[in-house]
Amino acid sequence: MSKCIFCKIINKDIPAKIIYEDNDFLAFYDINPKAPIHFLIIPKLHIESLQHLQSEHTNLIGRLIIKANEIATNLGLEGYKTHINTGVKGGQEVFHLHIHILGSK
Ligand code: 5GP
Ligand code: ZN
Repeated sequence: MSKCIFCKIINKDIPAKIIYEDNDFLAFYDINPKAPIHFLIIPKLHIESLQHLQSEHTNLIGRLIIKANEIATNLGLEGYKTHINTGVKGGQEVFHLHIHILGSK
């Protein structure tokens, strides 16, 4: 079994409040929200961080960003902040690439 906590969420080994799921992406509410609406969107492919992106991920990451906006819009957010922490010195705690989306209505 993967040790990665977000892979465990993908595999439903641990619960999360899932907002959206398809073959490539999963979005769920952050367990420790920093805004009235705070969710994370991740690729199901285990990529550790932005520092681990390869050119073969271009299409996946483009679609990830488009999906993030689609979900935020569907949640009723007229605007929102996006946040990506990269590396230990960048404040990253979970080493499975994720975008934070923070907003309020
Ligand atoms: P990072 O600092 O890596 O960008 O942020 C990781 C985020 O994942 C944090 O905001 C933290 O609250 C969230 N998080 C960590 N573990 C879990 C979990 O088990 N479930 C959910 N839903 N969020 C988590
Ligand atoms: Zn993972």
